[in-house]
Amino acid sequence: MDLCLYGTVQDSIVDGPGLRYTVFVQGCPHACPGCHNPDSQPAEGGEVHSVQEVLADIRQNPLVQGVTLSGGEPFQQADACAELAEALKAEGYSVWTYTGGLFEDLMANGGEGAQRLIRSTDVLVDGPFVEALRSLDLKWCGSSNQRLIDVPKSLATGSVILWQPDTVAPQRPASW
Ligand code: SF4
Repeated sequence: MDLCLYGTVQDSIVDGPGLRYTVFVQGCPHACPGCHNPDSQPAEGGEVHSVQEVLADIRQNPLVQGVTLSGGEPFQQADACAELAEALKAEGYSVWTYTGGLFEDLMANGGEGAQRLIRSTDVLVDGPFVEALRSLDLKWCGSSNQRLIDVPKSLATGSVILWQPDTVAPQRPASW
């Protein structure tokens, strides 16, 4: 499948723990005032790359421990993002996904692609950016309404469990 990308960062240390490759998808319907990445909001524009092309670029750096899907809104391209996330998990990468939606709503109403993407995500950072709740003290998110959700634990227990930094250490890719 193809992804429409706003861009990528091959060596990020600000989009989750460890050295990460960050994929910024193009297009987001949430229109949060104060959005960190307003140029990624329009659905038009961006560059189209196949999932296989993105995977190949990620694999080029053996020091990358994890991949973060951000945007834009990854769930606007849920099927392609799910394909990418499933392949990454199969290769041992940590996967974080950012969304302006809510975990419960995406699981209930997002459709099969959204469910696949969530099931292939280690940490889901959910909720829109709310300027009034913005804080520079927060790590990995911009406003205090946003949650860092431990997806495997949340799915196993049936209720939202927040991620704790020592519970999901970045895994070494199988290719190392
Ligand atoms: S969800 Fe994220 S990318 Fe979308 S408008 Fe809000 S802050 Fe911007």
